Amino acid sequence: MEKVRLGISTCLLGEPVRYDGGHRLDRFLTDTLGRYVEYMPVCPEAECGFGIPRESMHLEGDPQAPTLVTSRTKRDVTDQLLSWAHKRVKELERENLCGFIFKSNSPSSGMERVKIFGRDGMPRKIGTGIFAGVFMKYFPLIPVEEDGRLHDPVLRESFIERIFVLKRWREMIGQGGKIGSLVEFHSRHKLLIMAHSARHGASLGKLVAGAKTIQEQELREQYQSLLMEALKLRSTLKKNTNVLQHLMGYFKKELSADEKQELLEVIDHYHRGDFPLIVPITLINHYVRKYEQPYLKGQYYLNPHPVELQLRNHV
Ligand code: SF4
Repeated sequence: MEKVRLGISTCLLGEPVRYDGGHRLDRFLTDTLGRYVEYMPVCPEAECGFGIPRESMHLEGDPQAPTLVTSRTKRDVTDQLLSWAHKRVKELERENLCGFIFKSNSPSSGMERVKIFGRDGMPRKIGTGIFAGVFMKYFPLIPVEEDGRLHDPVLRESFIERIFVLKRWREMIGQGGKIGSLVEFHSRHKLLIMAHSARHGASLGKLVAGAKTIQEQELREQYQSLLMEALKLRSTLKKNTNVLQHLMGYFKKELSADEKQELLEVIDHYHRGDFPLIVPITLINHYVRKYEQPYLKGQYYLNPHPVELQLRNHV
């Protein structure tokens, strides 16, 4: 399988590019996720010419348009970083990135809650790093996350699920993206979308049903935007339970009374928070194989990302 291409703040890969010549190696990103993705490292401060080592810097002023200032000599270096950032995002357009992992708290790379110093000299955690801000504005549909937040199992699964969906979407478009392929894409992602938002699932279904009446480019843009919006919404115990019960309906005729009972109990344990999602999913996958359910076999909800990442193993 071709790897997912992700942008990443260079220091997270262990490269000594920080202001003090250090790094912020994150072993989950390099050793675990790194087996499935190909990273495109970006270090805004080093690449825009500030050098290594360099003076540390921080943000100050207006949270909507902050100034990047060197901490000791108080030089305003905003324009240098901004003009580099605008060029860099254009280059990144060619890289087919399906996501970006930013280094938290950085005045250049932080995605959110970066310190901004006010006139009173007090920091408030309300900012976005200069490069991260330019990137997110330029690529509003590309999933983004930060190293720290990726240690939260729910946020981690959400991000990784989205990068794999976006990769499949790009592949489908790359192969022509005709209406038939879009219908198949939608059909195979239906339950995954439902686990985030039944409302978005219905809107996407309508869009696909009326595909012939919309101009192709417009259809793709609308679909992708709604899809990414849906997947950003949190998938909860309740939403997953609904999907699991819905899945069970496909085996009405095949399951024995005992198998039905067992599946119901497992779903109930999941709903009460006793079991992780992987337990009912594994049982359902077993029945999909045993009773040869072609429609469910194709459902990405049952296999959204490599199982070795163990993203559904938390309670
Ligand atoms: S946080 Fe960003 S700017 Fe700072 S060293 Fe890491 S990649 Fe470079």
